Amino acid sequence: MLVLVLNAGSSSLKFNLFDMTDERLLLEGMAERIGVDGAFHWSAGAEGEQRELPLPDQSAALREVMALVASRVPEGKSINVVGHRVVHGGPKYGESVLITPEVLADIEAYSLYAPLHNPANAQGIRAALQAYPDIPQIAVFDTAFHHTIPDYARTYGIPYELAQKYGIRRYGFHGSSHAFVAARTAILLARPLRSLKLITCHIGNGSSVCAVLHGQSMDTSMGMTPLQGVIMGTRCGTLDPSIVDLLIEKEHLDYRAITELLNQKSGLLGISGVSSDFREIEAAADQGNPRAILARDLLTYDVRKFIGSYAAVLDGVDAITFTAGIGTHSSRLRAEVCSHLDYLGVALDEDANREGSGERLISQPGSKVAVAVVPTNEELMIAREAVK
Ligand code: AMP
Repeated sequence: MLVLVLNAGSSSLKFNLFDMTDERLLLEGMAERIGVDGAFHWSAGAEGEQRELPLPDQSAALREVMALVASRVPEGKSINVVGHRVVHGGPKYGESVLITPEVLADIEAYSLYAPLHNPANAQGIRAALQAYPDIPQIAVFDTAFHHTIPDYARTYGIPYELAQKYGIRRYGFHGSSHAFVAARTAILLARPLRSLKLITCHIGNGSSVCAVLHGQSMDTSMGMTPLQGVIMGTRCGTLDPSIVDLLIEKEHLDYRAITELLNQKSGLLGISGVSSDFREIEAAADQGNPRAILARDLLTYDVRKFIGSYAAVLDGVDAITFTAGIGTHSSRLRAEVCSHLDYLGVALDEDANREGSGERLISQPGSKVAVAVVPTNEELMIAREAVK
């Protein structure tokens, strides 16, 4: 069975083609700068190509993808299903669904909760429905994995009627990633997922931490939108809401300017003044830049704080797993986070942490709490959902 996975952003379209008979990735690539000057690149094993070309909209980008995919589909096979990454599934979607006009309308309506993501996801879906009218298309929601979060953990302290009226509650994100790395951690530990208490730390440009009990999400650091939780590349993470009032009044900012400030100018970038890229933060911190040191330390502190609170939520923890760009690659962040978790029984294997690569355990064999690194694979998870 061949699955095409699409992830449409505001100016990009990522694509992956899987042969799900053996979960083999046949082709991956991305159309970028859609609506600007246009660029397209792809790779298939050692082969690949990169070119500049006009891409006025998602449909134009998808036409490039279709032509490429048609030329790469193995003899006698064709695409059986398209899986779409959709950021927000609102209160309704606790599972992946076949896309119907009603589902598409819901995805558009949930732009209320994900104004930066859902409109682009919907645009990508519309283009794909036109391009592949006879192939079933599935929406896989970032929020779906977190539908198991209990009411008391997803409720905000605002008047109940307002929360009900507008669906204001914690939804959580990176669901495909947390589900994927939780399942891989169980395999690394050679124990059934349904017996484990896990804390999964997706630390990248966007970051979230999740408490996973017996394979189900019990709590996560992101909220109604992907703005809450630990600080991120350019997103502020958890704030006292009164800060918004102060900025509106003193800086004369309107709603749009505040949204931009908190989403695009805050986090590691806003604090350091150096970059949103953690490699550059680490490099500047090594050279003694005090704001880069502060940004690095704050991220480390935030992650550790969520691990501590989720150990309390889960009443203990069997393993802590790091994933995404920073979680997978920064051995220093992992070491710094784990260096203050002795009280939980975390004993890091410094060599395995620093020198190994890829999916592995990085705790000492006798560590009461295992620590793992698992590179995430959200695209494969979407393909699996589409097949299911
Ligand atoms: P993601 O959003 O998962 O692609 O992660 C992007 C983040 O991972 C960026 O902040 C990168 O700087 C960071 N990152 C990637 N490679 C490394 C590395 N080798 N060391 C530290 N951070 C890294």
